[in-house]
Amino acid sequence: MEGPSLVILREELEPFCRQKVLKVSGNTTQAKESLKGRILQRIETWGKVLFLTFASSKGVLPPIMTKTHFLMFGSYRINDPKPDRAPRLELKFKNGIVYFYSCSIRFGAEEYFEALDRKVDLMSEEWDEAHVVELMEARKSSYLCDLFLDQRVFAGSGNIVKNEVLFNIRRHPLTKLSKISRKDWPVLTRAVRAYCENFYEWKKKYELRKHWQVYRASTCPLCGVKLAKESLGKFLRKTFYCPKHQALRAGIKKLEVHDVLPMRGKPAAEARFDH
Ligand SMILES: [Zn+2]
Repeated sequence: MEGPSLVILREELEPFCRQKVLKVSGNTTQAKESLKGRILQRIETWGKVLFLTFASSKGVLPPIMTKTHFLMFGSYRINDPKPDRAPRLELKFKNGIVYFYSCSIRFGAEEYFEALDRKVDLMSEEWDEAHVVELMEARKSSYLCDLFLDQRVFAGSGNIVKNEVLFNIRRHPLTKLSKISRKDWPVLTRAVRAYCENFYEWKKKYELRKHWQVYRASTCPLCGVKLAKESLGKFLRKTFYCPKHQALRAGIKKLEVHDVLPMRGKPAAEARFDH
């Protein structure tokens, strides 16, 4: 799940805020029993991470903050458990049940949370373009396909954002940041941020997939050429790109961010999915 999905999760959990945890289960080895009887006090996100703070009901004990990362295949459900799947954590409240699957859950996340750089969180109001550009300076030799997955610079950007933004700027995934003119770096950061905002809006309308131009696609929506599908960069994540429109350029050319193309397929709502 990428940054925009975490914000949607935060919104979906809102009805459970200030509610008491009536029952806890799940196969996490963390001290889950300690949450029973506590009140879910705060729901926060940073990038692809969810933080839940549970206060003790009488306010005697210090609060417990949990950190949940959905890794590659993590997901969640509310009142609608996945059949034949054991949740990592299940929280029962008076008004419903929340299930977390295939994710990493850690208790005692206060220090980690305090140290986070909120200016790089793509979905945060505190996101700061100048700060992000400054951080890019030390990553000049990074490939764009790695830079767009680097959570210390683009917190919340994942493989969908990476592939789609590379297409919007018509650049090869193995373009080094140093090959993009320094004055275009703010344009680059804004392209990532803007895609995340679109991602959020589309996902809420259940039409994210129909906006995918290259991610999990087989042909280029512009020229029909077969897309390259390779595991590239240091993270070796699947990368989809058009060998013609995103050819590796030798010369430096002004960076242009192209609009996302019209949806593929009918605008009918798609089923809920875990991205
Ligand atoms: Zn093409």
